[in-house]
Amino acid sequence: MRKLDLHHFICRQDNYGVLVHDRVSGLTATIDAPEASAIERELERKGWKLTHILTTHHHGDHVEGNLALKKKWHAQIIGPKAEASQIPGIDLGVSGGESYDIAGREVKVIATPGHTKGHIVLYLPREELLFAGDTLFALGCGRVIEGTMSEMWASLDKLRKLPPAAVFYCGHEYTEANARFALTIEPGNEALVKRAQKIKAQRAKGEMTLPGTIGEELATNVFLRPESKEIRSLLGMSMASKADVFAEIRKRKDAFR
Ligand code: ZN
Ligand code: FE
Repeated sequence: MRKLDLHHFICRQDNYGVLVHDRVSGLTATIDAPEASAIERELERKGWKLTHILTTHHHGDHVEGNLALKKKWHAQIIGPKAEASQIPGIDLGVSGGESYDIAGREVKVIATPGHTKGHIVLYLPREELLFAGDTLFALGCGRVIEGTMSEMWASLDKLRKLPPAAVFYCGHEYTEANARFALTIEPGNEALVKRAQKIKAQRAKGEMTLPGTIGEELATNVFLRPESKEIRSLLGMSMASKADVFAEIRKRKDAFR
């Protein structure tokens, strides 16, 4: 199977843009549309013509470019049905559990409520490729704004079950701050300590820390590790449910400066 071309860049301040391109069909999708001008610039640089906008959730920093890009390219916008009224220009609503096809490739829609009520992530099983929006970040996860802590935990738990080799992209470059926080929750995790050092060096050079892999997150992302004995003992929650341990970590992150 021919590979998809992926083009990854920073836009706005700390949002990620990702363009997905298929050479044979010419299909080009942007994962979310954080900033029309930045996406236009990157399309031009690659010589690609936009055909799809794949929306993960309704927040302004993910849909702001929708209408301008749609007007210019007549791109089809596919996004969460539950948030359709808040997603400018949406053509097709999806809710999770179903799949659709782009350039002959299966795209599985996974509902991940928590950050927003209707948040979805996209998983391409053949490519082992995940677009996680603001649900999963490198060493972090999205703030629980519209959903409940237990919904967000259930959403992240779905992503824990993807193949460890799966590569993921997400909505933001928050990795360095996430690493600083993670070290307060699981300071004895050697893989985390090593990764935090690597991230610091990468960011000092202005490099992007994404994409990552699910396997690396399973080993180092404290939000995915409520079974960890070290975390449980540090939080004094040895008997608590995984969802409760997750909720405590998320609350501490919200208060972390
Ligand atoms: Zn968001
Ligand atoms: Fe965002």
